[in-house]
Amino acid sequence: MFKSASIRLAAWYVAILMAMSLAFSVWVYREATNELRMGIGAPFVIKLQDRLGRISESEVQALMEVQYADSQRRILFNLMLLNAGVFAVGALASYVLARRTLRPIEEALEAQNRFTADASHELRTPLAAMKTEIEVAIRDPKLSKDDMRELLQSNLEEIDRMSGLAQGLLTLARSGEDPHVKPVMAQEIVHDVLARMQPLADAKKITIKTDLANMRVLGDAKSIDAIVCILLDNAIKYSPQKSTITVSISREDSHGHIAIADQGPGISAEALPHVFDRFYRADSSRTKENVAGHGLGLSIAQKLVRAIGGTIRAQSAEGQGSTFTLRLPIVQ
Ligand code: ADP
Repeated sequence: MFKSASIRLAAWYVAILMAMSLAFSVWVYREATNELRMGIGAPFVIKLQDRLGRISESEVQALMEVQYADSQRRILFNLMLLNAGVFAVGALASYVLARRTLRPIEEALEAQNRFTADASHELRTPLAAMKTEIEVAIRDPKLSKDDMRELLQSNLEEIDRMSGLAQGLLTLARSGEDPHVKPVMAQEIVHDVLARMQPLADAKKITIKTDLANMRVLGDAKSIDAIVCILLDNAIKYSPQKSTITVSISREDSHGHIAIADQGPGISAEALPHVFDRFYRADSSRTKENVAGHGLGLSIAQKLVRAIGGTIRAQSAEGQGSTFTLRLPIVQ
C-alpha cells in the first residue's frame, strides 16, 4: 500500500519538476532563437563575403536560413537532453524523497496495527476462558447452586481482569500526550506517591526506606508521579513480605536520579531487555503466576518518560532484587 502511495507521490513530484523544467526550456528556446536570428545577420554576411568573394543577396539569405535552422536544431537537442536528465534524476530523487516522507506514517500505522493485534489477543484469552466455563456449565444437568455461584465468581474475576486490561490499554494509548515540561520539585512528587502507596506496603509488612535529596528537575509533575507510582507498585507487588524497598533521589552529573530498589525475585538476564515491552511478563513462576498484571505498567512508564525527555533504566539479576532508575535533567 505504501509502495504504490510512494510511487504516486513521486509521480506528483516529477510532474511538478517537469512542468517547471519544460516551461524553463520553452523560455530558453525562445530567447536563444531570437538572439540567434539577430546574431546571424551582418557579421555572418561579412564573413561569407570575405571567404567567397561577392555573392548574391538571395544566396546569403539561403545560407543564413540553413545556419539558423542548424543552430535551432542543436539548441532543441540540448534542451531535450537536459529535460531527459532532469526527468531521470528527478524521478529517482522524487521516489527517495516520497519514501522518506511516508516512512514515519508507515511506521506509526504499523505500530498501531501491532497494538490492535496485541490488545485483541490479550482480550480474546480471558473471553475464551469464560466462554468455555459457561458452555461446560450449561451442558451439565446436575449443576448445583454452589457450582453456579463458583462459576459466576470466576467469571467476575475474569471481567475484573479485562476491565483492568482495558483501563491499562487506555492509559497506554493516552500516556505521554501533551506533557507540561517545566522545573518541578522531585522530592514533593515522590513524597506524595509514597503517602498514597504506604497502605499497600503496610499490607505486606514492607518497610520503605527513603533518601530523598532536594532538587528541581525538568519534567511534568503528573507524568513523574505516574512513573514513580508504577515503579513503586511493581516493587511492592513483586517483593516478598517483610522486605525493604529503598526510594532515593540523588544527583549524578547534571541529572537527578529517582531510584526504586527492592529485594524481590529480580529479573533474569534474558527477561531484562524485554520488561519495557508491551504485554511482556517475565516467565518466572514467582512473578507471572502469583502476581496479577498485564505487562503494561513498564511500557506506560517508558512512554511517559520519553514524552518528558528523560530515560529509565532497569538493573536486576535473578534472586538479587531489582532497581529501576528514572533520570531527568536537573534545573539549577
Ligand atoms: P506487570 O507488572 O503488570 O506484569 P509491568 O510492565 O509493570 O507489567 O512489568 C513487566 C514485567 O517486568 C513483570 O511482569 C515482571 O515480570 C517484571 N518486573 C517489573 N518490575 C519488577 C520488579 N520490581 N521485580 C521483579 N520483576 C519485575
